[in-house]
Amino acid sequence: MIDRPAEPRAIVLGSAAGGGFPQWNCGCRLCNLVRAGDERVRPATQVSVAATCNGTDWMVIGASPDLRQQILQTPSLWPRNDGRDSPIVGVVLTGGDIDALAGLLVLRERQAFNIFAPRSLLEVLQQNPVFDVLDPTLVRRIEIAPLEPVVCGAGLTLTLLPMPGKIPLYLEDRSAAQPEAGPSYAALLEGAGRRMIVAAACADITDEVHERLRQADVLFFDGTLFTDDEMIAAGLGQKTGRRMGHVPLSGPGGTLARLAGLPGRRILLHINNTNPVLLDGSPERRQAEEAGFEIAYDGMEVLW
Ligand SMILES: [Zn+2]
Repeated sequence: MIDRPAEPRAIVLGSAAGGGFPQWNCGCRLCNLVRAGDERVRPATQVSVAATCNGTDWMVIGASPDLRQQILQTPSLWPRNDGRDSPIVGVVLTGGDIDALAGLLVLRERQAFNIFAPRSLLEVLQQNPVFDVLDPTLVRRIEIAPLEPVVCGAGLTLTLLPMPGKIPLYLEDRSAAQPEAGPSYAALLEGAGRRMIVAAACADITDEVHERLRQADVLFFDGTLFTDDEMIAAGLGQKTGRRMGHVPLSGPGGTLARLAGLPGRRILLHINNTNPVLLDGSPERRQAEEAGFEIAYDGMEVLW
């Protein structure tokens, strides 16, 4: 596969939602199964996807805090030459949460690459001087506007697709904690006439969103929670999935029902450690598979 250059490829560097699987401080059933070495569950790092269409350079979608470990586990992303070198030519930022940004700090050490992000996310970087560790003479911050395609390297064209994010504060209970940064974006990558979309966060599959997702030959989609009240039912939080910016897989308006008719390959990622689709053989996993969805895992390779 490595010697087939002009072929669009992706590697799932990390498939888990924020916290990873297992999460360091989580004693839920599934996290404990991972710690016990149960073969029905695989450990997973926080979400990030690498993509190429020229076989040598790679774009990284989402800057996961686990990026260092993910690069170590992925020979395609190792230096090709003596001295300082990386096949990573660019990073696309699609969300303002820690698990979508913090990986930039891993990419210091005087390495040139481009950061592609909408203005709102570049402002987050500007407001946090810790990101100045990325030398501005080597690391370019390139503002991209939603729905405007840009040539981003690795033989790919990138377009940011706006996705419904967290429910606006003005709709929330006044006593509620403020939601974290939004909105979120999906990344559409095009190469060799093929299209891949990575949409790790989507609060609502509106008709407009549905129409955008339809164009993907391969769609990586938000698989955070199986049921909207999963965190509440597990005693791990007070917020529903939708309020956290993630449409659930099950139920009316859920992902399994809404995206059932899409023509392309559909792969769930950004899966929270409470989600029973992580357990091989579970009824929920069967339900997702029977609806035509695959479950991403770390190291998964996809030709698209
Ligand atoms: Zn857990």
